[in-house]
Amino acid sequence: MDPIRIAIVGIGKIARDQHVPAIRGNSAFSLAATVSPHDAGLDGVPHHASLDDLLAQGPAVDAIALCTPPQVRYDLATQALTKGVHLFLEKPPGATLAEVEALKVQADKVGVSLFAAWHSRFAAGVAPARAWLAERKIEKVSIVWREDVRVWHPGQAWIWQPGGLGVFDPGINALSIVTHILPRPFFLKDATLVLPENRAAPIAADLSFRDTAGAAIHMDLDWRQTGPQSWDIVVDTDAGALKLAHGGAVLTLPSGTEHGEDVEYAGLYARFATLIRGGRSDVDTSPLRLVADAFLRGTRQTTQAFHD
Ligand code: NAP
Repeated sequence: MDPIRIAIVGIGKIARDQHVPAIRGNSAFSLAATVSPHDAGLDGVPHHASLDDLLAQGPAVDAIALCTPPQVRYDLATQALTKGVHLFLEKPPGATLAEVEALKVQADKVGVSLFAAWHSRFAAGVAPARAWLAERKIEKVSIVWREDVRVWHPGQAWIWQPGGLGVFDPGINALSIVTHILPRPFFLKDATLVLPENRAAPIAADLSFRDTAGAAIHMDLDWRQTGPQSWDIVVDTDAGALKLAHGGAVLTLPSGTEHGEDVEYAGLYARFATLIRGGRSDVDTSPLRLVADAFLRGTRQTTQAFHD
């Protein structure tokens, strides 16, 4: 079978760190081109300054991975879908829920695969955590996602702008895991969003959710954490506590701890190939919906200005 010729649009941090190695490590794909307005691209790979140029001048591609900030994702996605190209959307899949729904309708109409990728769902501990929790009664959930924005997002202006999500940019990864591992749906009860006086997106947030059986789910997000970083989820159940640490990579059950390998992006590209070969899409907006609800229902507090 011929490899799927794929272009990466948006050669930034995540494209270089994860997409390029994952594509090169998967024989179902060949990296056909890259697109970025201000980047020179990769040695030996055709590069274009815009998606317009790529689609007009080639090389031909079967699929595109959109690794841009979310605010420009919809226009690029719809342009690619018009050309009948399969699409991989980095998280979050869009800047609004309605635009993602519109892309899903368009992809179905054109007959191509649309994949809203949630990389944290492919962290090593997540699938076994989901299987273990399926049999348990959930009593309480605690999510603590505290990291240093200056370390992880230096100089990323888009992340602070409307649609950039602020601290929910990493926080949505936690929600992508929790929506996947808990056996029941859950919804927002209360939220406080803390915004620096010079920024349009939150630097911290405190959220309370409830599942449909009444279990409380608390989420603590903070971008001002220096020293040790926390990407932890603890689920208390009738059979003891489950802990997912390091963003889902390390799973601790009452029976012991399992350390998995970093397989997130390899897993995403294996899934994308399966979707394309099977003529299917995978577009789960539930993590983005919970974030949208926090912006819809949350109380705003202002804090001191943030400078990079
Ligand atoms: P980034 O380093 O700021 O890179 C974004 C890239 O998008 C830049 O290279 C920029 O190109 C390009 N771009 C912007 N507008 C474009 C357009 N109209 N056409 C083509 N390219 C365009 O951001 P990032 O950290 O890689 O994040 C990108 C996405 O991945 C975000 O949705 C983020 O949530 C997600 N993500 C990031 C991480 C992470 O650890 N950083 C992890 C997982 C997922 P120029 O520089 O050439 O202008």
